[in-house]
Amino acid sequence: MGNIVAIVGRPNVGKSTFFNRLIQRREAIVDAVSGVTRDRHYGKSDWNGKEFSLIDTGGYVKGSDDVFEAEIDKQVVLAIEEADAIIFMVNVEDGVTGMDEDVARLLRKVTKPVFLVVNKVDNGKREEDAVEFYNLGLGEYHTIASINGSGTGDLLDALVAALPEVEEEEEEVDAIPRFAVVGRPNAGKSSFINALIGEDRYIVTDIAGTTRDSIDTKYNRFGFEFNLVDTAGIRKKSKVKEDLEFYSVMRSVRAIEHSDVCLLVVDATRGFDGQVQNIFWLAQRNRKGIVVLINKWDLVEKDHKSTIEFEKYIKTQLEPFTDVPIVFISVLTKQRIYKAIETAVEVYQNRSKRIKTSELNETLLPIIDNYPPPAYKGKFVKIKYVMQLPTPQPQFAFFCNLPQYVREGYKRYLENKLRELYDFKGVPISVYMRKK
Ligand code: GDP
Repeated sequence: MGNIVAIVGRPNVGKSTFFNRLIQRREAIVDAVSGVTRDRHYGKSDWNGKEFSLIDTGGYVKGSDDVFEAEIDKQVVLAIEEADAIIFMVNVEDGVTGMDEDVARLLRKVTKPVFLVVNKVDNGKREEDAVEFYNLGLGEYHTIASINGSGTGDLLDALVAALPEVEEEEEEVDAIPRFAVVGRPNAGKSSFINALIGEDRYIVTDIAGTTRDSIDTKYNRFGFEFNLVDTAGIRKKSKVKEDLEFYSVMRSVRAIEHSDVCLLVVDATRGFDGQVQNIFWLAQRNRKGIVVLINKWDLVEKDHKSTIEFEKYIKTQLEPFTDVPIVFISVLTKQRIYKAIETAVEVYQNRSKRIKTSELNETLLPIIDNYPPPAYKGKFVKIKYVMQLPTPQPQFAFFCNLPQYVREGYKRYLENKLRELYDFKGVPISVYMRKK
């Protein structure tokens, strides 16, 4: 499980510009593939080979100006509790403001690494002005200009040096699937877990996970063995936190990163809103298996078409990754709880699937011959062979003469063929073109 870095600070100091700069390249690729642009406040970045998750807390502040202050305070408190390092951004143009002082007061007590970052410092005069931020009592600060990236290199050097070492994910230590139950507050996650594991929840032994604050607990239910990924944050905290989108995202990030398959619990009476979509995207972005559980199905008035129509609606929300199992459940009546777990186990098996190179070539090369990559800029691409890479989740390399001339559309075609031929339901797969 990776480190989480939270960016805090007043609105308009430049947090999102900085955030976008750090995650830009990769997210741009994701968006080009999916053809959709969504508001993202979570991303992955790496510097000198050290990967970390970045959360722009400002992205979660909504509402009018007068609620800002209270919201930001809450977010700083949460960031202090949940993140591994905090970037506190201020704006040299505004000087030290009252709100900055409030935030600094909270941060002064923190033992985690805190980086005071003075933004918009793009000339010598402003470098001098920045000195006043010593008054915040947070010690040394970094000056940057997010707009052109100056100063960010030094900041990132210091940041990654301060992050705790992350133990390698032991993906295949035991072949027992790790499930994370995720979803927005009140979707029924806790009820689902209780219905699933019942009283035993309290008598099974906790096996400490690979990182300090996560715990995998092993269960045996309906003949299936699995670990439920629990993190410190998953245990219920105060209602205030539950209501904060930022908190539920932070909590989901932890659980998702540590799992093999995510069980995304959706409240049928609320449908698939932006927050659910965000969590779905997180799971996909982390290349985890996904099962969508439509909960509270007992509350929905049904006629013979309801399931089909609801499923259609959910699929449109999942686009472009729609090859995902959807199970209609009711935690209240214990309807299809077994089915939910059975499906999650199937997705785990799909994700662990390894297809022999000889078989892949036998099935795919004729298909490729029949419909080769369209010529691009007058170049003809010849795909020579295919192999699955030895990674924990399905990734396929297509070796060809001119990999750079294969368009996204054709890669999607290959992905669809792979999905038709081999069952990869619920599993994000990657298709790469390699030079040969
Ligand atoms: P969490 O925040 O996702 O853990 O959600 P909870 O498990 O606390 O559930 C939120 C509320 O929804 C509680 O009042 C549950 O009793 C209720 N609930 C959960 N599952 C169902 C269901 O299948 N049907 C109905 N009618 N209510 C449910």
